[in-house]
Amino acid sequence: MVNRERLLASFLDLLRINSPSRQEGDVAVFARRALEEMGFQVCQDDAGQAVGGQTGNIVATLPGASDDAPRILLCAHMDTVQPTDGIRIIREDGIIRQEGAAVLGADDKAGIAVILEGLQSALESGGRLGQIQVLLLICEEIGLLGSKHLDISLVDSDFGYVFDSGRPVGHLVSEAPSHDNIAVQITGKAAHAGVCPEEGASAIRAAALAISRMPLGRIDRETTANVGVISGGTARNIVPEKCEVKAEARSRDESKLQRQVAQMRQAFEDAARETGCTAEIEISRQYLGYKHSREAPLVQLALRAAADIGITMDMLPHGGGSDCNILNEKGLPCAVVGVGYDRIHTPEESITEDELVRCAELVRALALAAGDA
Ligand SMILES: [Zn+2]
Repeated sequence: MVNRERLLASFLDLLRINSPSRQEGDVAVFARRALEEMGFQVCQDDAGQAVGGQTGNIVATLPGASDDAPRILLCAHMDTVQPTDGIRIIREDGIIRQEGAAVLGADDKAGIAVILEGLQSALESGGRLGQIQVLLLICEEIGLLGSKHLDISLVDSDFGYVFDSGRPVGHLVSEAPSHDNIAVQITGKAAHAGVCPEEGASAIRAAALAISRMPLGRIDRETTANVGVISGGTARNIVPEKCEVKAEARSRDESKLQRQVAQMRQAFEDAARETGCTAEIEISRQYLGYKHSREAPLVQLALRAAADIGITMDMLPHGGGSDCNILNEKGLPCAVVGVGYDRIHTPEESITEDELVRCAELVRALALAAGDA
């Protein structure tokens, strides 16, 4: 069994460390000490220099007693959204939350705490373990910068689990979308709106026309699209020469994503041409999607571990991206696992002590199931 009091103590210690993105140094020191005490060899990559942060990503390796066991990796991120400085932690009726305008930071310190405790208790159980790696990333909250800059040559695992999702504990995000950003700069021609509007070409009108023609919102079960920002024009009485639009599209099906993005591009090009404007369109891939079947070894091991502790593990598709997308893209098959926190990125963020314990038990069961495979 996991040590409930030890888990809660280390979780609370982690919460008290202020660690917004690029300032994860103290969390890294805390985690490094805990991992080294368990016998892990801990190293740090150069991602910190690349992003101007206090520390790089932590990659820790525990050599396995069992050579034929799958080598698993357990991942969480060390940064939190702001503000977390000066939080007042409240423990009440088995719920951990904070009082005031700050954010608790259970996302993702709960992930770190359950990994540390789950592994500690797996080691204490005396069960046979395979090689285990722990990956603690920086700068997740500001565009997955830690995973994007991760030195993947330090990772030597067959597959991994990213502990960074809400309730319920143990749900497995087995599918996540690819994501494209679309930046559009429309250029028309300025003219006095009252004196000679016919001499102008309205960039705002072109944008409006294009947006009204493109499919947006939930396109289908796997695909979404959104225009998130629009800005343009300089004054009420000037036909606007410039309009900038920021949009995105995501799909768990690559061909559907390409079709959606092509439609959006076409709508901007057509509308610009029809209104005497030009459109400069830039499409950039944010991350690649992933999909793991029930038969995948990483899913099979997770299902076995969940069964060992008596919980059902639901496989859920997800509409967002995470470090997990980047790790999959870098060649490490992995899936996101629910940690059990609630209302993240708000002052009401909370997690129950029972969920935290259950998730640490899942980590322990994963480590033992892998060693026993
Ligand atoms: Zn997170």
